[in-house]
Amino acid sequence: MMVRHRCALGAAKPAVLRILLLFLASVVLTNVAPDAIRQLRGRAYAAARGVEHARALLSVEGWSVEESGLARLYYTKADADIAGEAAAFAGEAYMSVCGRLGYDAPGELTVIMYPSFESLQRAVAGGEGGEGGRSIGVCWAGIVGMVSPKAWGGLFGSGDAVHLFGRYNPLHHEIAHYVLDEMADGNYPRWFSEGLAQVVEFDATGYVWEETEALATDGGVDLSLGVLDRAFNREDTLNAVYSKSMWVTDRIMKRLEGPGFARLAFLLGRGMDFEVALREVSGLDYGALESEWRER
Ligand SMILES: [Zn+2]
Repeated sequence: MMVRHRCALGAAKPAVLRILLLFLASVVLTNVAPDAIRQLRGRAYAAARGVEHARALLSVEGWSVEESGLARLYYTKADADIAGEAAAFAGEAYMSVCGRLGYDAPGELTVIMYPSFESLQRAVAGGEGGEGGRSIGVCWAGIVGMVSPKAWGGLFGSGDAVHLFGRYNPLHHEIAHYVLDEMADGNYPRWFSEGLAQVVEFDATGYVWEETEALATDGGVDLSLGVLDRAFNREDTLNAVYSKSMWVTDRIMKRLEGPGFARLAFLLGRGMDFEVALREVSGLDYGALESEWRER
């Protein structure tokens, strides 16, 4: 059976967001422009993210903390011997991803290193679902969570925990999710975030997930970009979903020169529809990307 080590992005929609969205829906007039509604939704999302962030930090009250540059790592006593290296690595990875994506207003990155898969899953609201219990990383509520390499249990072979961590840690991947989310306040399709995280991780570490490398088949399911996000909930086509997300996002990132990604994220943060913003900054739309995907 294939080991699942994908991150658990999306398993963590803050419950409080639903309340805020209901509130917004009750006050927004029907003649407000869609971009303005999306921007309002983004602000509600950011507010909810802040609430969830504070709540998550309460759950690690009393844990040890290691500071390293722009990263603040929470860990348990069991990981005291590797916390310093992990925090240093997190800070370096954060700077690397911010540079790659043109994120020039980074705040302190919060990282929580959980001592087990189970503790990470428990920490993430909704983490019991289809994402499975073998995710080594997660990004939710403005926090990067990861399972301590001591608990990986041979997932990536045996060896020294620090060495395994340096080679297989999910930090670049999860930090890419985090940076996009901070810049665009939730206004992006999930496939783009998963694709971006894989592209950034591959560029930084050369690592490709087993899921993405696996033979991808659509199984007769519609995996066109407009509806691709729905397929994240299907186990049978998940490899194809991750593969297509990465492939298409790689095409987009290759087209976005210089500050192109930051411009795209800025427009998303202003509430622009994703495909409209994509066309504006890259000239690409879903039709062009689907054609390239078919002819690859
Ligand atoms: Zn991910």
